[in-house]
Amino acid sequence: MAFSIHPAIDNGIKPASPSFAGGTLNCKCSDRKVVVSVKSQSAHNHACGCTKCWKPAGALFSQVAVVPRDKLSVTANADKLKVVDPSATIQRYACTGCGVHMYGRIENKGHPLYGLDFIHTELSPEQGWSPPEFAAFVSSIIESGADPANMGAVRSRLKQLGLEPYDCLSPAIMDLIATHTAKQKGVTARA
Ligand SMILES: [Zn+2]
Ligand SMILES: [Zn+2]
Repeated sequence: MAFSIHPAIDNGIKPASPSFAGGTLNCKCSDRKVVVSVKSQSAHNHACGCTKCWKPAGALFSQVAVVPRDKLSVTANADKLKVVDPSATIQRYACTGCGVHMYGRIENKGHPLYGLDFIHTELSPEQGWSPPEFAAFVSSIIESGADPANMGAVRSRLKQLGLEPYDCLSPAIMDLIATHTAKQKGVTARA
């Protein structure tokens, strides 16, 4: 394969372990690692092609999942964390030593995904996290420099790996967001 979707995905996807209840995430510093503790299985794990999510070197996609924010805490070297872009909807906390994003948090209580933190499960030494289920924002990898002529091959590879490619989020999550927006606007659902 001439390109890498993501190092944790390229060799096939490992299933979740049924009893998995969380683990730790470590940054890539050799000294004074930032450690995040997550006391929950992850959900909605996916490959993401957007330009904001942290991607390992050489990967076209990030791998990103969500966990309830009250299940996540920074347990070591929190002083090394800094928000990448304070004006962004998701406040992505990156390690100032190695650049890895340790978690992303939404502070707007009106946001459909408020209450969920975004994490990269490959930062964990534990096995058993929920595996990626689809690929989001696939076309956006072009904005990070991917060759537009390669997109057919990228989408074929994603399908081969079992990750349906979407150019926004998956239909289930888009429906969830739209339902939230409709409720906020007071729209009544028709049959
Ligand atoms: Zn670090
Ligand atoms: Zn993303």
